[in-house]
Amino acid sequence: MKSKISMDKPVVEMDGDEMTRVLWAWVKEKLLMPYVDLKTEYYDLHVLNRDKTNDQVTFQAAEAVKKWGVGVKCATITPNAERVKEFNLKKEWPSPNGTIRKILDGTVFRAPITVKSIQPAVRFWKKPIVVARHAFGDIYDGIGIRFEEPGSAEIVYKSEKGNEKKVSYPKFSGPGVLQGVYNLDKSIEGFARATFKYAIMNKMDLWFATKDTISKVYDARFKEIFNTIFEKEFKEEFKKLNINYNYYLIDDAVARVVRSEGGFVWACKNYDGDVFSDFVSTAYVGTLALMTSELFSPEGYYLSEAAHGTVQRHYYRYLKGEKVSTNPTALIYAWTRGLKRRGEIDGNKDLVNFSLKLEEAVIKTIEDDRIMTQDVANLAEPPIKAVVTSEEFIDAIKKNLEKLLKL
Ligand code: NAP
Ligand code: MG
Repeated sequence: MKSKISMDKPVVEMDGDEMTRVLWAWVKEKLLMPYVDLKTEYYDLHVLNRDKTNDQVTFQAAEAVKKWGVGVKCATITPNAERVKEFNLKKEWPSPNGTIRKILDGTVFRAPITVKSIQPAVRFWKKPIVVARHAFGDIYDGIGIRFEEPGSAEIVYKSEKGNEKKVSYPKFSGPGVLQGVYNLDKSIEGFARATFKYAIMNKMDLWFATKDTISKVYDARFKEIFNTIFEKEFKEEFKKLNINYNYYLIDDAVARVVRSEGGFVWACKNYDGDVFSDFVSTAYVGTLALMTSELFSPEGYYLSEAAHGTVQRHYYRYLKGEKVSTNPTALIYAWTRGLKRRGEIDGNKDLVNFSLKLEEAVIKTIEDDRIMTQDVANLAEPPIKAVVTSEEFIDAIKKNLEKLLKL
C-alpha cells in the first residue's frame, strides 16, 4: 500500500441529514480516507444540531469557508411545519443553503455528469449545458404582505444620506398579496464576473437572459451590468478564445436552449436558475444524482454540494432495515470537486489527480461495468449488468479506483 496523499490545509466539511448523511459517511470511509489523509474542519448541520445551536452552526460553517476557501456540503433538511413537528424544533429554521449562499454571495454552477448509456431527453443535445445560478437576492430575500381589503401600497427607498425615492403599486381593488424584492449592484457584478470567468476557464459560450422588456428597472439593470462588464473586462479574451456572449429574453432563451446542441453556460437570475437547473438536469441525465453543483464567489470562496435533497423516502426504508439503492454519485462529486479545488489552490498535484481518478472510477463503473443504482438503471440504455444497493455501488467504484490508482 502506497502512503496516503497528504493535505496542507483543510476543507470545510458540512455534514447533513437523512440518507445523504448515511452515504456521506460511507463515501468518506470507503473512497476517501483509505487514500487521502483527509483534513477537514467539521461542522454538523444535522437539523437537530442547527436547532440546538439556534442555527449558529450554519453561520460558523459559512464563515469557515471564508477562512479556508473551500467547503463541501452534504444535503440538509430545510424545515417546514411537518419537520418542526417531526423533530420537535424550536422553529422553521431557514434553508442552510440560502444562509450560506447569502454569506458567500456566490454563483452556483450546475452541470450534468454525462454517461454514455444515458441519452438526453432532448435529442439535439450533444454537449453539457451548465446552468449558472445567481445565488443572491430576488424572491429568496424578498418580503411579502397578504392583505384582506382594497387599498394601496408603495415602495419607499431612503438613502443613508436622507434621499428618498417612492413608487406606488396600482390600486388594489380587493384582497390579494404583494411582494418586494431587491438586489445589489455589487452582487450582480460578482455574478457577471463569475460567469464570464467560468466561460473562459471552460472555453464555452455564455448566454444570459432576463425579462428586461417587462421588468424595465430591475431586469434591465442586470442586462446593463452584464453588458458593461463584458465590454470592459472580457470582450478581448472572448474574441481570442473564439467564444461568444449572447443576451436573450428569457422565453426566447428557453426555446433556443431546447433547439441547441448544448456546450454553453447559461447564466440565470436566482429563480430562473432554481427552476431551469432542475429542468436541464432532468432533461439531460434524468436524475439530480448525476449533477454537480459548485458555488464560486467573487472573493474566490468555493463550495461544492449535491444538487438533490436528503432523499427522505429512501432513508425511512433504510431505517426499517431495507437495502436501498440511493445514488451517491453527486455526493462523491461534491468531495472530488472540493478536494480538486483544494489541491489546485495549494499546488497539491496528488490531490488533484486523486479527485480526477475517483470521478473516472464512478464513470467507469456505470459506463463500462454497467453497474448502477436504480435511478440510473431506469434511464440507461441496455445492457445493464447489475442494479445494486448504494453500498455495492460504492464497493464497485472502489475496485475501479484502486485499479486506476494502481494499488
Ligand atoms: P430529494 O431529497 O432530492 O428527493 C426526491 C426524490 O428524488 C427521491 O425520493 C428520489 O426518488 C429521487 N432522488 C433524489 N436524490 C436521489 C439519489 N441520490 N438517488 C436516487 N434517487 C434520488 O427531495 P425531497 O424529498 O423533496 O426533499 C427531502 C429533503 O431534502 C427536504 O427536507 C428538503 O428540505 C431537503 N432538500 C435539501 C437540499 C439541499 O440541501 N441542497 C435540496 C433539496 C431538498 P424516488 O423516491 O422516486 O426514488
Ligand atoms: Mg430547484
